[in-house]
Amino acid sequence: MDPSAEITDFKRKQEFIDHLYNVADSSYGMPTSCPCGGRIIDEVRVKEEYDTRPGKRFFSCINYEADGLHYRQPWVIGVQEEMVRMRERVDEAVEIIKCVPILTKQIDSLEVCEHFLSLWVIIKFEIIKFVNTFYVFISELQVFFISYVGTG
Ligand SMILES: [Zn+2]
Repeated sequence: MDPSAEITDFKRKQEFIDHLYNVADSSYGMPTSCPCGGRIIDEVRVKEEYDTRPGKRFFSCINYEADGLHYRQPWVIGVQEEMVRMRERVDEAVEIIKCVPILTKQIDSLEVCEHFLSLWVIIKFEIIKFVNTFYVFISELQVFFISYVGTG
């Protein structure tokens, strides 16, 4: 086998092994689609000897083959893992909900700060207007005294 074909063959085998690991590692909870792109079906494996009991249930890829490249999650395990995941999400949501009153107080405080800040801007503007008017008054007063002293 020539070296380039050997390298290509090695890469192809490595990709196949990586794909097997990816399928094995990502099979968790109730799958919504298979890595092959196949739809997940609720499969019931029928056992002929148990007429009264339903067979074992699976979340299976519609293209399922026992080659390790498709999802086939036992229904009970999938539902159990999904319940654990959902419980964690509910716990996270509860922690966030506990913070809402604190955040509401902080927002109220910020609104009060914003109100005082806008009042301060108005007061500063009025002070500047007053100071300008005062300077104009002083300069007019100086002109008046100079002209008064100058004529007296
Ligand atoms: Zn598949």
